[in-house]
Amino acid sequence: MIDIEKYIRDIPDFPKKGVTFKDITPLLSHPEAMETCAQELLRLTESEKINKVVGIESRGFFFATLLAQGLAAGFVPIRKPGKLPYATLKQPYTLEYGMDALEIHEDAIQKGDRVLLHDDVLATGGTAQAACRLIEQLGGEIVQCNFLIELEFLKGAQKLRNYEIRSLLTY
Ligand code: 5GP
Repeated sequence: MIDIEKYIRDIPDFPKKGVTFKDITPLLSHPEAMETCAQELLRLTESEKINKVVGIESRGFFFATLLAQGLAAGFVPIRKPGKLPYATLKQPYTLEYGMDALEIHEDAIQKGDRVLLHDDVLATGGTAQAACRLIEQLGGEIVQCNFLIELEFLKGAQKLRNYEIRSLLTY
């Protein structure tokens, strides 16, 4: 079995001084590591019935589409403002310094959809929390939120305490 941790590298002072960024691009470029990750993420959802997988722009898209394929579910993108072409629902959220927002197509989730939310990294949790709000405003039920990496020391799980959270790697 491949040790996926070996394919994640630390980049000091990115995107700003004092932050150590987990870079997943070595993992993406290694087919066996990708396959192992996709299988492991799928295993986390084994007993759940899921019909939509929502991925968060942009690194969430890589595995969310593979998960959707593996679960025979639909894939739904959540994107930064102004990127989605059809009518959207918008959710602002707080960053360490300032605000940002996420959008979803208003017809992307139907009432009663059973949703898996996926992103590459759970850090402070603001991004995933905003994504959960969008899904629920459209009537989706969040069955699980899963992540490749959880940066536990940033306590993002506290913002998602109403949901089942699973992560492949924790730091
Ligand atoms: P949060 O809102 O939880 O603070 O940040 C999570 C979002 O920022 C995710 O969409 C994730 O892609 C990105 N992010 C934050 N820190 C890192 C990191 O160290 N590595 C990667 N790959 N993404 C990060």
